[in-house]
Amino acid sequence: MFGLPASASAALHRYSVTVDSSLEQFDVMVCFDGPAPRSLVADDTAMLHLAQMQLQPPGIGQLKVNDWRAILTGLPEDACIEYVVQLRPQTNGVQMGGPETRRVGRDLLTSIGDWMWRPAEMAEGDDIEVRFELPPGISVSAPWRQVADGVFRTGATPREWPGVVALGGFEPIVIAVDGGRLNVAMIDSPPPALRDMLERWIERAARSLVTVYGSFPVEELQVVIAPTPRGEKPVPWAYVSRGGGPAIHLFAQGRYPEPEFMRDWTAVHEMSHLFLPYLEWGDAWLVEGLPTYYQNVAMARGGLIPPEEAWRRMYEGFDFAKNIGGQFTVYEAGQRLGRRGLYRRVYWGGAAYMLAADLRLRELSGGSQTLGDALHEIHQCCLNEMYRWRAEDFVARLDTATGTAVFSELFEVQIRQRPFPEYEALYERLGIRILGGHPIFVEGESAEYRNAIMAPR
Ligand SMILES: [Zn+2]
Repeated sequence: MFGLPASASAALHRYSVTVDSSLEQFDVMVCFDGPAPRSLVADDTAMLHLAQMQLQPPGIGQLKVNDWRAILTGLPEDACIEYVVQLRPQTNGVQMGGPETRRVGRDLLTSIGDWMWRPAEMAEGDDIEVRFELPPGISVSAPWRQVADGVFRTGATPREWPGVVALGGFEPIVIAVDGGRLNVAMIDSPPPALRDMLERWIERAARSLVTVYGSFPVEELQVVIAPTPRGEKPVPWAYVSRGGGPAIHLFAQGRYPEPEFMRDWTAVHEMSHLFLPYLEWGDAWLVEGLPTYYQNVAMARGGLIPPEEAWRRMYEGFDFAKNIGGQFTVYEAGQRLGRRGLYRRVYWGGAAYMLAADLRLRELSGGSQTLGDALHEIHQCCLNEMYRWRAEDFVARLDTATGTAVFSELFEVQIRQRPFPEYEALYERLGIRILGGHPIFVEGESAEYRNAIMAPR
């Protein structure tokens, strides 16, 4: 037979993860396909959870575990390693950051980097199959591509991108919308009426997103909804993660009635992050500005709030933010997000930029070109590229996509200069006057685009 040499074919490393009935102990058998990697790595918190690791069978080479790195030497081809993880989940307080290993009622959220020891380097095309052996009645939710029940391919997102694997007694729910599939896990078994309500809420949010350019921005989305005991709104905390695939995690308070969930911006905001590729730290004006714009516009387009309410929310956001951190440009504020309250200048300054760009594109093209069209171009060419973009490159790409200089020109004026982005003039051109906190529609030179911005596509 004349075949390709073995080194040219992609490797599929196999992980078998046996979860015990406490959900906290994982017995992981890793078998490499071909040569073993030189090392396996996990997050720097992984040593807290690792109980033991050994070659299988012992004596086939050398293994040295050093903090979050396991160094492998002298292993034969197709070697195996076995390790045991005893997770130490958080049980106190409430989650206020990204992925973490946390007990939620009877179920468990795990930060993948706490327990998954992965090859430090993988060649292009190499992949990992993860097969879960679960106790009866337990399901698994992962951001990875599912190939069979409990079996996933992790793909090649950079290993430092965080993600969550959830385990529990949930029935996985699939919500299909144009261009995408949402794989929803509801943690700690909400009662049926609440579960149905939360499902309607996620579906409405996803459909609202589709109004931006006719398709959901990602093909597969892991959605994890967990209850949270604290906070004064339906969704006190939520975030997006990208490791292994796109995911959003929402912490919800089921005591709020359905209409309050439908009016809440969090789900649409988090999903709107998916219009963007993974961006550098410090580019918060773009990372948060776009979702802050669409949390209003997409909600109006999807019928979750009336257009007047969207205009009101945006005006209020701009008006409040303009007086915060006036010594910083929006760009600079984005690099100092931790400072008290400064995030508002970043989120709303970025949103004002998006409104300005959307309107400018419409004005220049007589209404035939929009911000949504520019994002659709990005969706088709390069949304899934596996590296961190710089905002400047993304802005340049938006200009290319539209054949204009709208995005880079506005970037210089609104993001790189000190005054808060000009939004009063935009409202005037759109024929929107705010009286006593409420928008009144009047004449304006670009008033024709006022409805188009908030209308379903
Ligand atoms: Zn956000």
